[in-house]
Amino acid sequence: MPSHRPRDPFPGAAIAQQVRQRGIRDPRLLNVLARLSRRQFLPPEERRFALDDRAIPIGHDQTISQPFMVAVMTLELALTGTERVLEIGTGSGYQTAVLSLMAEEGEIFTIERHATLSLRARTILDGLGRTNIRYLIGDGTLGWPAEAPFDRILVTAGAPGFPSALFNQLIEGGRLVAPVGDEYSQELMLFRKQNGRPESRSIMGCRFVKLIGAEGWIDQGP
Ligand code: SAH
Repeated sequence: MPSHRPRDPFPGAAIAQQVRQRGIRDPRLLNVLARLSRRQFLPPEERRFALDDRAIPIGHDQTISQPFMVAVMTLELALTGTERVLEIGTGSGYQTAVLSLMAEEGEIFTIERHATLSLRARTILDGLGRTNIRYLIGDGTLGWPAEAPFDRILVTAGAPGFPSALFNQLIEGGRLVAPVGDEYSQELMLFRKQNGRPESRSIMGCRFVKLIGAEGWIDQGP
């Protein structure tokens, strides 16, 4: 007999609760986290770790970001709900889902260099009915010139230096959040465009996988 069990409207309740315990109190963000199943964005063999507050492997030597970090990065973007957001590093698509719900009347442009990851994320996000997302496979360090400028830009891989091509694709008053540092540790940075120049602030220390590309690290992969 087919099962008609109604789908849990808050599959991410435990994640939202964890993030809340770490001091994140934004009700809109906590609601969005509660509505998303992090588990769904993980490969089957990693699903039992879905509630761990850490980065988890998703294949191709990449990881889904730590929920607390996803929360911090999202809040630093200060989304009101209508922004056009550029995301570099689609990865699992979990952060993309968060952005898509936090800017429901806006549009998310997400770039991933690994085609398989991009396609996998797209399948999941399509399944969730997220229609305000556009996908690109390629080097995100160069941005998405045809769609620029953006109100917000989020980089979810560690950049070796200031991401100038991306900053150039930001509107005046816009915000760019990116981890910047060496390959072992970075500072999560907020760059606001004020009179065309970056006003920067360090948010916290962090550790992300490498941003690989023209304005990133050199690809040393197989
Ligand atoms: N937000 C993702 C993070 C994935 S890790 C998540 O939570 O699942 C960072 C991702 O950035 C990886 O998937 C990696 O392949 C991708 N990446 C690295 N350099 C990139 C580049 N230059 N352009 C686009 N994606 C890149």
